Amino acid sequence: MKNIRIYDNGGASFDRYTVVFMNEPEYQPGTFMALGMSEHPFHPQGFGQHCAAMPGRHLGKRIKFEDLPEDCQKLVKQDLEVSVIYECGICGSFHPWDFDGDCRDDTNRFAGVEDYAAKTGIPENEIEVRCMCDRIEADGFEQEPCPVCGKTA
Ligand SMILES: [Zn+2]
Ligand SMILES: [Zn+2]
Repeated sequence: MKNIRIYDNGGASFDRYTVVFMNEPEYQPGTFMALGMSEHPFHPQGFGQHCAAMPGRHLGKRIKFEDLPEDCQKLVKQDLEVSVIYECGICGSFHPWDFDGDCRDDTNRFAGVEDYAAKTGIPENEIEVRCMCDRIEADGFEQEPCPVCGKTA
């Protein structure tokens, strides 16, 4: 995974793992948006929160994404993909990348980038649009040619 640095302080503090998003600089020079996590961020007593962090040894040992506990990996992926939407070939609207529900779910159906930006508060220039075939591929299925963009594998 690019543009992120991951640290593990071995359990010295509750927010044991810190993921620093190197392409999201914060107001203070040298600091970046980061995600502090305990081993089980989804657990009621777990921890997973955004903060500003300066990458470096004080956060612990550098580890690879694969070294993170599974739940932490999941949270990081959610974080990275919150600004991704895809064009749905079934209803013609756009859905959030991690959405896999019914097309008629209006809260997860958007007219486009502008609409998604307005409803989520995510800046328009940070939203990435993918195609439905990318979504299907990410799920491990294949459908070709893609009914939206016509892409064949
Ligand atoms: Zn749809
Ligand atoms: Zn496609």
